Amino acid sequence: MLPVIALVGRPNVGKSTLFNYLTRTRDALVADYPGLTRDRQYGLVKRADIKSLVVDTGGITATADGIDGVAVEQVERALEEADVVLFLVDTRHGIHPIDEEIGQNLRKLGKQIVLVANKTDGLDANTHIAEFHKMGFDKPWPIAATHGRGVVELLRHVSNIL
Ligand code: GDP
Ligand code: MG
Repeated sequence: MLPVIALVGRPNVGKSTLFNYLTRTRDALVADYPGLTRDRQYGLVKRADIKSLVVDTGGITATADGIDGVAVEQVERALEEADVVLFLVDTRHGIHPIDEEIGQNLRKLGKQIVLVANKTDGLDANTHIAEFHKMGFDKPWPIAATHGRGVVELLRHVSNIL
């Protein structure tokens, strides 16, 4: 059985974009409209010689009616089978209250969590990711999923902790 890397985070942080980059596919739906990936989406990682599966999740969708129950259930199942969880946040936005909520829930799992600061393209990554240190995970890993910036370094780190 291959190790499983789960991509988790609130809608629109770039999970599906990263999934597509990692798998060299366009299988995950990427959109400005948040919450579109409802089912778990599996793929084989085809970057940096890492033998692993990656699973995109629909994120945790907070709607006017509250948190979307189906999406939450899918995320929970993906988390159960994950060996490493990549917890994505949006560097352009900074820490969002939902990020903190997700972070608290993830911590309870006792899994390996890697905090990934996406959308660093055009930014001075070191300056902008500084605030994510206070989320209480190991250092945030700066990437830009659209360009692949930082992704190989991130994967090397993931292989080391698998
Ligand atoms: P998801 O809801 O977490 O799956 O997010 P998506 O992958 O659908 O991406 C949401 C939006 O963010 C899309 O418009 C993407 O093109 C954009 N996006 C994703 N990654 C990056 C990135 O590294 N840099 C920038 N500038 N935009 C990104
Ligand atoms: Mg998505």
